[in-house]
Amino acid sequence: MSDRHDHEQAIERWRVAPGDRVRLGDVATDATDGAPGDKHETEDACEELVERLAEWQGRLWAEQRQALLLVLQAMDAGGKDGTIRKVFTGVNPQGVAVSAFKAPSAEELAHDFLWRVHRRAPARGEIGVFNRSHYEDVLVVRVEELVPEAVWRPRYGAIRDFEASLGAAGTTVVKLFLHISKDEQAERFQARLDDPTKRWKFSTGDLAVRERWDDYRAAYEEAIAETSTERAPWYVVPADHKWYRNWVVLNVLLATLEGMDPQYPPEEPGLDDIVIR
Ligand code: AMP
Ligand code: MG
Repeated sequence: MSDRHDHEQAIERWRVAPGDRVRLGDVATDATDGAPGDKHETEDACEELVERLAEWQGRLWAEQRQALLLVLQAMDAGGKDGTIRKVFTGVNPQGVAVSAFKAPSAEELAHDFLWRVHRRAPARGEIGVFNRSHYEDVLVVRVEELVPEAVWRPRYGAIRDFEASLGAAGTTVVKLFLHISKDEQAERFQARLDDPTKRWKFSTGDLAVRERWDDYRAAYEEAIAETSTERAPWYVVPADHKWYRNWVVLNVLLATLEGMDPQYPPEEPGLDDIVIR
């Protein structure tokens, strides 16, 4: 259907090998490595990738045997919402299940931290998208000291086991960290403040989180190092340029779906002889 090599080549540089500890400060947030051209050329290329994604999603849905879970994590204004809007613009909504995870409710807090995410895991045939995820439980929860280390540290292992069990049940998991600079975040916050239709996205609490930028970065580095596996890899996606970010995310999805290789179910025998009158 397409050249698998192309998609793999586009993304391999951003994949975190199991056991690797990526220093996020060393990864350029404004990189555009491997892009097919400038902003406009890359956006044109993305239109074709969006169509390919729709084709693969059709196969995944028809096959009804496997699922794909895309986990999106980022600092505030990192582009999670925009990525979902742009990348999934061409797919059949019936086959995509997007879940956003906010601060847990009382009911959610009364359960183990994976309870609320497990029930949102995609069904066979679906692409599930997590806008934030179980990773918040080793990120914000750690940095804001919402639970002691003796509680959050064992969660790395719990997450690895959880994702491995999804994999064993036919759900391929990929995890993306949308990597923006602190300056880019400042610009995006300011743009939210300047636009009355975007102000709802801004909360003054975001500024307190911004002040702890380095603590969040350290928490991300450790979480990524602890949980990037062969079957459920992390990708660090340079995300200052939205057009490059979208192009990388599309390539991650396409390379992953090509690896899963969903097939249309076998047809009933004898269909060639049927003529509808
Ligand atoms: P937003 O994505 O901007 O709508 O914000 C959602 C907020 O919920 C963020 O501040 C997250 O850090 C917070 N959040 C998500 N999951 C958790 C969690 N498990 N514990 C505490 N806060 C969380
Ligand atoms: Mg927010």
